Amino acid sequence: MARTYDSRKRVLVTGGAGFLGSHLIDRILADGHEVLCVDNLFTGSKRNIEHLHSNPRFDFIRHDVTFPLYVEVDEIYNLACPASPVQYQHDPVQTTKTSVHGAINMLGLAKRLKCRILQASTSEVYGDPTVHPQTEDYWGHVNPIGPRSCYDEGKRCAETLFFDYHRQNGLEIKVARIFNTYGPRMHRADGRVVSNFIIQALAGEPITLFGDGNQTRSFCYVSDLIDGLVRLMESPADFTGPVNLGNPVEFTMRELGELVLKETGSKSKFVNLPLPQDDPRQRQPDISLAKAKLGWEPKIKLKDGLKSTVKHFRDNDFLTSQDLRGRHAS
Ligand code: NAD
Ligand code: UDP
Ligand code: UDP
Repeated sequence: MARTYDSRKRVLVTGGAGFLGSHLIDRILADGHEVLCVDNLFTGSKRNIEHLHSNPRFDFIRHDVTFPLYVEVDEIYNLACPASPVQYQHDPVQTTKTSVHGAINMLGLAKRLKCRILQASTSEVYGDPTVHPQTEDYWGHVNPIGPRSCYDEGKRCAETLFFDYHRQNGLEIKVARIFNTYGPRMHRADGRVVSNFIIQALAGEPITLFGDGNQTRSFCYVSDLIDGLVRLMESPADFTGPVNLGNPVEFTMRELGELVLKETGSKSKFVNLPLPQDDPRQRQPDISLAKAKLGWEPKIKLKDGLKSTVKHFRDNDFLTSQDLRGRHAS
């Protein structure tokens, strides 16, 4: 979309070299705005943004959001944080710092600039939920001292900070609780279930089903999720969220594995491995609020989204599941 200088926003995307961040940047640039991408490349990759370097409306700064950042922008999407359990448990103290110190710094920046700021929160704030499907008014069931706590409690504290800056400083905030999202540019070795299963299926190796495979997740395709984030950012000032963004169609991990086998035509067999500690048994968003306030609901079915995700992994070099095991062990 062509824009005049006056109607063009300069948008900061932290975590912009990651899976969701890089798709969000593509969308913001396509809408005619300017983007400043800030990322320390912990789980993100320059490869996700290399197609943007010749775009005069795109800038990149390699920076860790746990340190202060003084830049001039009109709007902030705060996505910086590893999202995969394997990655966020790799250096749990840094994960908490990224969520908490990162939020303080980005909120401080938004306060100085008097600009709108959106937080990429997560369904993990509900922990291993006892309410199903999850509604935004559910306070969650979270272990504060387990291996997932660095992420869950870090994200919960970030939400607290967003609402305190809103109440204390009148900041315009938006909080999205994102449920499992998948698609092209997921990191090949980040250990999330969709990428693991596809890589294993393509390599003809066993599909690693943790536990009995009856635990559930609800998978949202990336383009749907990005549309939800942009609608939330553009929603009226009095709508802060938190709002669930995710696809409400729920699958067991075994069903997901079977879909991946079908889509790849792979002869891989399932192998059962121990269920990680505190792994949520079920997860499904209630998206009534997003429908009512944002006019948003996902459009892409899992089998269609898997098709393009499998194509992505087929077309790009990918690590073998042996490399994945190496990542798990390290
Ligand atoms: P990702 O790991 O691909 O992207 C995260 C990005 O943040 C990476 O580019 C990483 O290098 C960067 N980063 C990490 N720590 C940083 C730091 N201290 N300073 C600067 N940059 C840093 O993950 P993603 O799936 O794109 O997730 C993006 C955001 O959405 C995260 O905040 C995540 O918690 C949230 N989220 C994602 C999902 C999902 O299913 N993908 C679900 C819920 C919430
Ligand atoms: N901050 C930043 N960029 C800015 C303004 C603030 O990174 O443009 C950081 C700064 O490190 C500060 C934090 O945001 O510690 C919180 O800012 P705030 O103004 O809320 O609090 P204070 O400056 O009083 O600590
Ligand atoms: N999982 C699995 N095999 C894998 C990776 C994950 O069975 O190789 C399971 C995991 O135990 C969880 C679900 O898939 O129940 C989703 O895991 P993921 O790490 O993608 O995200 P989470 O929703 O747990 O943050």
